[in-house]
Amino acid sequence: MPRHSLRSLEGYLQIDHRAAPSGTLLAPAGSNFETSTITCSHCHSVQIFNPFRTRPREYCRSCDKYICDPCAGRLPIEGCVPFAKRLDEMERQIRAAEAGALGSVLVDPAGVPLVASTTDTMHADKA
Ligand SMILES: [Zn+2]
Ligand SMILES: [Zn+2]
Repeated sequence: MPRHSLRSLEGYLQIDHRAAPSGTLLAPAGSNFETSTITCSHCHSVQIFNPFRTRPREYCRSCDKYICDPCAGRLPIEGCVPFAKRLDEMERQIRAAEAGALGSVLVDPAGVPLVASTTDTMHADKA
C-alpha cells in the first residue's frame, strides 16, 4: 500500500481559453481545460492525465511515486532510480571528470553515455 494518497502526488493544469479568440487541440477557443498532472519520479517529466486512458498509471513501489511509461519500461532493467539520485550521480561524475579521474565520457546510472565529450559541452561551476 502507498504510504500516502496517490492523489496527493498530483498536480493541476488549467488552460483557460474562455475569452481567447483561438485555441489549441486540448483547449479550443471558448473552452476551459482542466486536468490533473503527475510528475515522473524517475525523470521529472510532467504527464497530463489522459481521461481516455484505460491502462493503469505506472507506479514505482520502491519510491512510492508515479512514473511515466518510458521509465516504467526501464524499471525491470535499471531498477528504481529517482531523479535526485540521477542528479547526484551526474554531479559525482562531473566532479570526477573535472578531477581528471574519469576521462571525458559521462554515463547515466545504466551506463549509457550522456554526452560525447565533457570538454566543450559541460561547464560546471567552479567552486
Ligand atoms: Zn519518467
Ligand atoms: Zn522509483
